[in-house]
Amino acid sequence: MDLFKGRTAVLATMHRKEQAIAPILESEFDLKVIVPSDFNTDQFGTFTREIARTGDQIEAAHRKALSAIEQTGLDFAIASEGSFAPHPAMPMLPSDREIVLLIDTVHNLEIIGEVISLETNFAHRSVSSFEQAREFAIKVGFPEHKLVVIDQDQITKGICDFQQLEELINAASKPVHLETDMRAMHNPTRMKAIAQATQDLVKKLKSSCPNCSKPGFSVSDIKRGLPCGWCNAPTDLILAEIYRCQTCGFEQLLPTESQVADPMYCAFCNP
Ligand SMILES: [Zn+2]
Ligand SMILES: [Zn+2]
Repeated sequence: MDLFKGRTAVLATMHRKEQAIAPILESEFDLKVIVPSDFNTDQFGTFTREIARTGDQIEAAHRKALSAIEQTGLDFAIASEGSFAPHPAMPMLPSDREIVLLIDTVHNLEIIGEVISLETNFAHRSVSSFEQAREFAIKVGFPEHKLVVIDQDQITKGICDFQQLEELINAASKPVHLETDMRAMHNPTRMKAIAQATQDLVKKLKSSCPNCSKPGFSVSDIKRGLPCGWCNAPTDLILAEIYRCQTCGFEQLLPTESQVADPMYCAFCNP
């Protein structure tokens, strides 16, 4: 696909996300990714809540990308956005949902790559001693993963060594709140998830819509009810994937490879 060949895309980041995103897109599409030197994404909201995040995750990425287009005068932008919440299918476990969004105003495209990763160190804890802080820090992968200390309304981010942590904890009023620094450049695990979302974006960009032929034709939903191989009753297994074009909205139901379900998944044959 050479829609993007030789073009320059601006990546709206100040947290070095280009380390995860640029090499993948540049090698896949023969394009160049640049980062504006003075782009302040904190105006769109921060994790440590000095500025509340408005709108949802996609909206936030969308606004970042448009703002980078406006600032640079380029016609092609990428933005990414993460959010941390219980996993949709396994609510006991924290997950990192990362999206990487691409806007191409020449071809009128807006495509989103996404991953929901269970690999995250997202955590917080209130502590009353450095010993407790140390225990938490080790558990979340400190010092490779940095920390944030919130002492009443004093927020210190990017803490990266035990000595600094000890000084802050000792000086703070107790209990003091500790949390993982989720900014990409301070969190190698998150950086990995951003790369995975970029891979998903690549996959979607390479799949084009049978209706309008634009890239971004991808699975948007699934339909359950694969029939039991013995009695034909619908099971909980996936019958088909629903593909949807992110540009024109065209939908297509594509059956999965298996025609029937193993009766072990059937509520009647094997309760
Ligand atoms: Zn389409
Ligand atoms: Zn059955």
